[in-house]
Amino acid sequence: MRALILSDIHANLEALEAVIKDAQGSGGFDTIWSLGDLVGYGPDPKACIDRIREFDLVSVAGNHDHAAIGLIDANDFNAAAKTAAEWTADQLDSECRDFLAAMLFVEVQGPFTLVHGSLRDPIVEYLLDRNSALGTLALLETPYCLVGHSHIPFVCFEVEGEPEFNEFPEDKRVALNDNRKIINPGGVGQPRDRDPRPSYAIYDSVESNIERHRVTYDIAKTQKKMRSADLPSRLIDRLEHGL
Ligand code: ZN
Repeated sequence: MRALILSDIHANLEALEAVIKDAQGSGGFDTIWSLGDLVGYGPDPKACIDRIREFDLVSVAGNHDHAAIGLIDANDFNAAAKTAAEWTADQLDSECRDFLAAMLFVEVQGPFTLVHGSLRDPIVEYLLDRNSALGTLALLETPYCLVGHSHIPFVCFEVEGEPEFNEFPEDKRVALNDNRKIINPGGVGQPRDRDPRPSYAIYDSVESNIERHRVTYDIAKTQKKMRSADLPSRLIDRLEHGL
């Protein structure tokens, strides 16, 4: 079984299509595991939800998914994100809203636990340091945890009880051996590691490994749609810088 692992699509249809095409052309996949933030920031919330639902899908909730349907207060967001959340809310039909509302905070798939932020605070906490990693490892009941939210790819190994953050290399298989791991595949729709290319991972259950890839897409096309929708310029500009 091969799972396509996506996080933070953020209503960027061009990025999502580029990732799907790349994954289909390099071994394919049987299912999609989405780590939250399907919507928010980007110009195609409904199209992204409809597209991803064409596949076998397990998806956990992100903070932007919940902001778009009023389950969390967008006033807690910065001004640009709040504007985008309000715009997104207007684009969603009742079927999209029901779908977003039905997503759970945590899902278990085989040896993986899927969550957007962290296990101790599923849609709020950014898992990027020792403290947040220890908090999640303490609650983790499967060997591996998949997280998103920061849009920063990494593989965090547990070594003698201590989390050790490592780069998640590109195009190189990472063996899922004995030690527990927390893995972030990077962001699809709004990468933030100073590389604007969408990032995704593939888990192969037979080979017991995970691999990360990046793809290019038509950033200008997405930006043009965002301009037409009058979305904040800060959100439009950041796409080409990977910030
Ligand atoms: Zn996000």
